[in-house]
Amino acid sequence: MIRRPPTIVCYICGREYGTKSISIHEPQCLKKWHNENNLLPKELRRPEPKKPEVRTITAKGFYDLDALNEAAWTSTQSQLVPCNICGRTFLPDSLIVHQRSCKPKAAK
Ligand SMILES: [Zn+2]
Ligand SMILES: [Zn+2]
Repeated sequence: MIRRPPTIVCYICGREYGTKSISIHEPQCLKKWHNENNLLPKELRRPEPKKPEVRTITAKGFYDLDALNEAAWTSTQSQLVPCNICGRTFLPDSLIVHQRSCKPKAAK
């Protein structure tokens, strides 16, 4: 049996971190999130992501990482904003970069 070190998905940015580094990362990530959110145009700002309420310890005393990660993933997905030109969804900061190069299809 191969044991992968368990990783936890950050509910803010959706990246995976080790069980130890997530507790260091989360407050920093939230701070960064606020900085970025404040820079966004008003219509792209989002409410602060909420840490998903998941029972992380199973009956056997293990972390229920699958449930936790699924909830975190859903949380990051809910932050995505659709591009009003092509309809693809992006995180607001990527959307701004994307829209620089996203052009409506030229009418022929
Ligand atoms: Zn993060
Ligand atoms: Zn687009």
